[in-house]
Amino acid sequence: MALMSRRRMLGTAGAGLAAAVPVVLGQQKSGWASSGKTPISLIIDDGGPVDAMFYMHPGYETPWIVPNAFTERVAATFERFDLHGKFTVLPMPSCLGRIDKSLERVPQEHLEGFLKIVRERIAPLFDITPEFLTHLAAYDLKSGKYQHIFEDAWISRAPLEEVIDYFVLAFQILKNVGLPAQGITSPWNSGIDVEKQYAQALAEAHWKVYGKKLTWYFLYVSEWDQPRRCTVEYTAPERGQTVVSVPANAPDIFWCMELPTQSEKVEFIHRNIDRLAPADGRPGRIRQLIEGGYPVVLLTHWQSLYHRGTGLGLEGLTALAERIQKVFGDSLRWVPLTEIARTALPAGSGSGPDHG
Ligand SMILES: [Zn+2]
Repeated sequence: MALMSRRRMLGTAGAGLAAAVPVVLGQQKSGWASSGKTPISLIIDDGGPVDAMFYMHPGYETPWIVPNAFTERVAATFERFDLHGKFTVLPMPSCLGRIDKSLERVPQEHLEGFLKIVRERIAPLFDITPEFLTHLAAYDLKSGKYQHIFEDAWISRAPLEEVIDYFVLAFQILKNVGLPAQGITSPWNSGIDVEKQYAQALAEAHWKVYGKKLTWYFLYVSEWDQPRRCTVEYTAPERGQTVVSVPANAPDIFWCMELPTQSEKVEFIHRNIDRLAPADGRPGRIRQLIEGGYPVVLLTHWQSLYHRGTGLGLEGLTALAERIQKVFGDSLRWVPLTEIARTALPAGSGSGPDHG
């Protein structure tokens, strides 16, 4: 996801749908269930060796190649606080080419360095997803050219088979660079108007490439509104496969690029950290989610952490991780997003061996 206006619209859509979506909460089956700790997970969208905002918003000023030294700082922050969650790696970032081949205007050494850090330091902590292919113009699978529509408009009208092939290519590219994907992320709110077909296409594509019984997608953000639950959106009983929709239950609290001054940005971030987890012990968003039994899933973006090369959002993430530690001690446990998705499974399902 990206773009404030689209995410706001999405949040509204999500809140409106919450009551109509059947809630499927199952027994937690993984290690943390017996640990008595509440799982918490962090979604990071739009990841890649370049800043996707540079192409999404012409005129947006940023050092558009994200230095690998920055990616290493991010990895070090994850390691320091043992953060887990989901990290997007765009298979064809900003229509520049394929990350398993080469990208226009991006030195090969830079691309390979980025992928190495993700493989060795980020993927052990964070599940990896594509965010469709480009997070920009839709790719034409037949001609190999980019179309004159964005991916959100493309999926609204694409036939099921084409969406399956599109997702297969996304998963295959990540597999080729040694980054198997556990699910998929919607660029913006792509697929929200064709969600059943989206979920089915994901099931088919993920099965073809990975043969896993559980997969999931990230589409909905509740922001500060009524939180959402994980829901089962598609099943293929003949192969025991389930597709879960996993929401983020907070807005990107580091997204402040449009604010004019540094002090306003810093204030925005600190105010948001206070809303998530007040230092004085008052209940904040995270406490609200825990007490309501909602998934504690936080959200940010690669460009928010990077913040035009300043790393302002990454500083915010450090402050947030420290605050969560201070307020919740070890009553929370950071988990990859798949562990959050698993809570939607009915007891006894999805635990068998995966196919090939
Ligand atoms: Zn995005």
